[in-house]
Amino acid sequence: MINKIKTLTGLSLLIGAVAACSNPTASTSDEATADPQKVLTIYSSRHYDSDKALYAMFEEETGARLDVREAGASQLLETMKAEGDQSPADVVIAADAGSLWRFKDAGLTQPLESEALEAAVPESYRAADSQWYGVARRIRGIAYDPNRWDAASLSTWDTLAQADKAGEICVRSSSNIYNLSLMGELIHRYGEESAQNWATAVVENMARNPQGGDTDQIRAIAAGECSIAIVNHYYWVRLGASESEADQQVAANTSFLIPEFVEGSGSHVNITGVAMTKTADDTELVEQFVAFLLTENGQFYITRDTKELPLLSTTPLPEGVDRLPTFAPSDTHLDVYGENQADAQRLFDLAGWN
Ligand code: FE
Repeated sequence: MINKIKTLTGLSLLIGAVAACSNPTASTSDEATADPQKVLTIYSSRHYDSDKALYAMFEEETGARLDVREAGASQLLETMKAEGDQSPADVVIAADAGSLWRFKDAGLTQPLESEALEAAVPESYRAADSQWYGVARRIRGIAYDPNRWDAASLSTWDTLAQADKAGEICVRSSSNIYNLSLMGELIHRYGEESAQNWATAVVENMARNPQGGDTDQIRAIAAGECSIAIVNHYYWVRLGASESEADQQVAANTSFLIPEFVEGSGSHVNITGVAMTKTADDTELVEQFVAFLLTENGQFYITRDTKELPLLSTTPLPEGVDRLPTFAPSDTHLDVYGENQADAQRLFDLAGWN
């Protein structure tokens, strides 16, 4: 059993302990005493080279093998539902607390009780019932044309509902999980009626019908279709870090800000997180894996390509992320995004946000 370990060093020790006691790659020997190699099956909605480096390091350190299967979160969800008790999945990695909530709501996950993980992950960024843990942070904010607006005129989400934003806003569809989670926090803060009024006003201020992904909204600003876009920070950062000159130009011609709800409220933060599946039996190995993602190495590689923010404030920001303005995170617990998800979609529908 793991004692209360509060520090990163503690997490490293946890991994070291597994490396020491798990059976290394010599398991091909015919010795009757040799344990079979441990295998952890990961269902991941991510697809980045830096994740592969991360997985290889975990295998090296622990002697376990990772069987990683990548697909979109909704496809993984449907796959796991179909597989039922026979699912090989031990771990789910998905972006957005609202997405992880769907796995839990479908009964596909189980609590991962761990004092070490609880100590490492701030309370708001892990499920209160231990059904998932955040491992990286992501910010939904506002990309804008700096020739048209100054940051002060977009400093809160309310400003998007103002009449001077008519015809200026680009945003993707309301069924997108990032929008649902943002709306989940708006409902939490303002109540349903005000949140619906906000959505209705934003729909009135849209430059076009919701379409495309977040990157498309930023490109639309550069193309002059709109001057404000609701997008996650890393899409804007990636355009700036792109090898394409056209992408770099899009990033250079747009700015990004992180609005608050009201002044001093802090800003909407989301996570990429990890959940242990209902069918996982090697709880200890799952815990080692999540702990590994929360080491300095783990944090570096899980954010290097995605341009997310490390969950641990001690890890340096990935290249390009230093272009972001500073912000204070809201203290809303991310369980709220899942709990309000159905209401968020209902209010979006009432507001006519397609
Ligand atoms: Fe994304």
